[in-house]
Amino acid sequence: MDLTTLTAREIRDKVAQGGVTARAVAEAHLARIQAEDGKIHAFLHVMQAEALAAADAVDAKRKAGARLGPLAGVPVAIKDNLCTKGVPTTCASKILEGWRPPYDATVVERLKAADAVLIGKTNLDEFAMGSSTENSAYGPTKNPHDLTRTPGGSSGGSAAAVAAGFAPLALGSDTGGSIRQPAALCGVVGMKPTYGAVSRYGLIAFASSLDQVGPFARNVEDAWELMKVISGPRDPRDQTSFEMGWKREDVKGLRIGLPKEYLGAGLDPACAAAVDRARKACEVLGMKAVEVSLPNTAQGIPTYYLVATVEAASNLARYDATHFGLRKGDAAHTRGAGFGAEVKRRIALGTFASSAGYTDAYYVKALKVRRLILQDFDAAFGACDLVLCPPVPAPAFKIGEKASDPVQMYLSDVFTVTANLAGIPGLALPCGKTASGLPLGVQLLGPAQRDARVLAVAQALEGAL
Ligand code: GLN
Repeated sequence: MDLTTLTAREIRDKVAQGGVTARAVAEAHLARIQAEDGKIHAFLHVMQAEALAAADAVDAKRKAGARLGPLAGVPVAIKDNLCTKGVPTTCASKILEGWRPPYDATVVERLKAADAVLIGKTNLDEFAMGSSTENSAYGPTKNPHDLTRTPGGSSGGSAAAVAAGFAPLALGSDTGGSIRQPAALCGVVGMKPTYGAVSRYGLIAFASSLDQVGPFARNVEDAWELMKVISGPRDPRDQTSFEMGWKREDVKGLRIGLPKEYLGAGLDPACAAAVDRARKACEVLGMKAVEVSLPNTAQGIPTYYLVATVEAASNLARYDATHFGLRKGDAAHTRGAGFGAEVKRRIALGTFASSAGYTDAYYVKALKVRRLILQDFDAAFGACDLVLCPPVPAPAFKIGEKASDPVQMYLSDVFTVTANLAGIPGLALPCGKTASGLPLGVQLLGPAQRDARVLAVAQALEGAL
């Protein structure tokens, strides 16, 4: 049996029943990484010794008759902007090279408590700024479906790891689409929870009012299980976190809103066809499709790139050559040597947009438009229970295709940034392939705290598709 094709649920059940050891599961995934990650580069750091030790601990626990956690023996890949105690955490930046956090992120702590096996730290765009992993200081990740294309980003390493069978589960972070966009481009499930549903403690900050940690999986059931493990009780170390309810919802009779602004010109026909297939499947499942309007959608990109850069400029001020990693003379020289071009661009933009004399015209105005985008969703969720739309305007693009044109790169986030600005949950679900075999996806957006509804509809749709 090839243990790398099992779902997280199957692994957990087999390990709990003694059908397979957690060690065998870990070894099978490590062997696959060893054999294939040379060409994909999903990982920045493979946690070989830690994974085997964690797996042995799970097997010992079972032998002793102790109760096993909900992810017992399940390998999980971790985006390298999440702190792992004693294990290198770089954010794919030279500035953090060699830094080993003295603590675990809350989500990492919860994974360990659930008896999961952390298998490695995955590649990303530096500080999660990008949509292709090409901004990693350690080289790009390749899309497992086509090695000449990007897996998307910024959590491209996590999406590729799950798509390539290196781990059935992975964690990513989504500030403007960084879970949903790579999930769509790699043909896996990826979810950004409601803002605050998952603790950000130990997630290295990019834009604090937008950042959320969320799951990648090969099916909705597994993503749901991982979501339950990482959310849970409110974390007192993240004052924006709260405990979310998980009431199961019946999908029958739900009104599915199709926002006309997401389906117009500029959308790749194959992506539009995927949404159409999903709409029909929703109808077969007893849901009702209605047209809705989110009129400020086009304002999403400029709004996001002002809010996110202003927050990033402030968050990244801490890399000052005294606290972390790299040291090259004074703060200015360390930052000059340690940050890549895109990070510098964001710091410059954010500093400018919030500087005296410009803040009203840029940052404050962006906050007002952010409010309008939130109001758009409030109005839409009066007319429907869930929004169905594309996650991306086109399938996976070629490595190098957009790397020299930041505006083109930013535009690939047009359908994902709105959920972050509004704080609502969003999920990308695989939905067929292009004629040349590239994955297609659809996106479900729900009202705040209705993550269970999003997952329930996704699960029903997955079955129907
Ligand atoms: N691609 C977007 C950006 O570059 C979103 C990144 C993210 O969600 N972390 O900012």
